[in-house]
Amino acid sequence: MRRHPAMAAFAGRSGILQVGGIPVDRLAARVGGTPFFAYDRAALAQRIRLLRSALPAGIALSYAVKANPMPAVVQHLSGLVDGFDVASALEMHTALDTPTPPERVSFAGPGKTDVELAQAVAAGVTIELESENEADRVAATGRRLGIRPRVAVRINPDFAVKGSGMRLGGGPQQFGIDAERVPAFLKDLAQTDVEFLGFHVFAGSQNLRAESLCEAQRKTVELALRLADEAPSPVRYLNLGGGFGIPYFDRDEPLDLPTIGANLAGLVENSIRPNLPDARVTVELGRYIVGECGVYVTRIVDRKESRGKVFLVVDGGLHHQLAASGNFGQVIRRNYPLAVANRWDEEAVEQVSVVGCLCTPLDLLGDGVWLPRAEVGDLVVLFQAGAYGLTASPTRFLSHPAPAEVLV
Ligand SMILES: *Cc1c(COP(=O)(O)O)cnc(C)c1O
Repeated sequence: MRRHPAMAAFAGRSGILQVGGIPVDRLAARVGGTPFFAYDRAALAQRIRLLRSALPAGIALSYAVKANPMPAVVQHLSGLVDGFDVASALEMHTALDTPTPPERVSFAGPGKTDVELAQAVAAGVTIELESENEADRVAATGRRLGIRPRVAVRINPDFAVKGSGMRLGGGPQQFGIDAERVPAFLKDLAQTDVEFLGFHVFAGSQNLRAESLCEAQRKTVELALRLADEAPSPVRYLNLGGGFGIPYFDRDEPLDLPTIGANLAGLVENSIRPNLPDARVTVELGRYIVGECGVYVTRIVDRKESRGKVFLVVDGGLHHQLAASGNFGQVIRRNYPLAVANRWDEEAVEQVSVVGCLCTPLDLLGDGVWLPRAEVGDLVVLFQAGAYGLTASPTRFLSHPAPAEVLV
C-alpha cells in the first residue's frame, strides 16, 4: 500500500500504528477513550533538529504558539527553540509559564486590547506594532505603568508571497503598517518613549514552494535595509516570518528546506551582517514544527451503506479537526491522509467515505478513500493534525465533549 510520507513518522508494529512507541489502542485506553489528539515528543525534537541542520547557525527559531497552544507542547518546545510568537494574552501566559525569558517572546496580531497591551508591557515581551493607533496605546500604557515598552514594527510589505495557502501581506491588509508609511511612522516613534527593537514581516502561511519563500526572504531583507536608515536606533531584531508548509495531499512535495537554508545563509552573510550587525535574525514557524507531529484518533461507531456507497461514521469530526473537512480556508476539498490504525498492515480493498458524527454534510473527513475493510470499533487516525487542529476548530458545534490531548 502506498503510504503518505506523513505516515512514515508513525510506524506500525504488529499490525497497529504507534505514537511515541505506544500502540494507538493502548493509548486510547490510557486516555480513557476516543476521540483524542496525540503529539509525539520525539518527533517534535527531530523536527527542530531538521530545521537547525538546514538553517544557518545564528538564526533564531521562534515557535508560533497559535499553531498548537497545548501547554505541554509549548513547555517541551521551550527547551528546543529560541523563542515564542504569541497572538493573545492566554498564549502569552502559556509561553511565560515556560523557562523561555520574556525578551524571547513576541506578541503579534491585530486588535490587541488595552488590557492585553498592559499585560504585554508589564511582562516585558516584544510587542509587534500592527498600526499607528496601537503604537499610541502602547506608549500610553507604558507611561501609565512606568515601564518602557519593547516594540518592533510589523510591516505590511509592498510585495506578496506567491504560493501561500493563506496570504497575510501585500495589498491592503489588517496586518502590519504599510511599508510606504513606515518611514513617517518611525519618525513619530523616535519621539515616543518606547524601546525600538526592529522589524517583523509575516506575509503568508502554508507555502511549499522554496523559491517563493526564498524570494520573500530576499525582499524582506531588502525592505528592512531600506527602512533601517529611518529607524530611531540600530536594528537589533529582524523577524523574517516563516510560512513553511507541510504536504497534506497526495501530490504535495515536502518543502525543499536545504534551498531555503542556503538562501538564508547568503542573506545573513552578504546583506544582514554587513548592514545590520546588531540584528538578531529570527524565523518564526508554527505549522512546520508541529503539523506532522500530531494525529487525531477516532473510533468507528457505525458502518453503513447508502445506495452503493460505504460510510464509516466515526466519533470525531470537524468540531475537532476542521481542517481535515476542507473548511479551514481551503478552496478545493481534498483528503488529509488517514488510516485504520489497527489494520496497519492490511491491504486497501474498498473505497469508503469517512464521516464525522455531526449533523452536517460538511463533516466529511475522507471522501472516496481506499482502506482495508474496517468494522465498528476500529480506530481511524487522521495525520497532519499537530497544527491548527483542535485550536482552529469549532469545538462548541453540536455540544459534544472536548477531545483529550496527550503528548507522548
Ligand atoms: C500564524 C503566525 C505564524 C505561524 O504561521 P505558520 O504558517 O503556522 O508557520 C507566524 N507568525 C505570525 C505573526 C503568525 O500570525
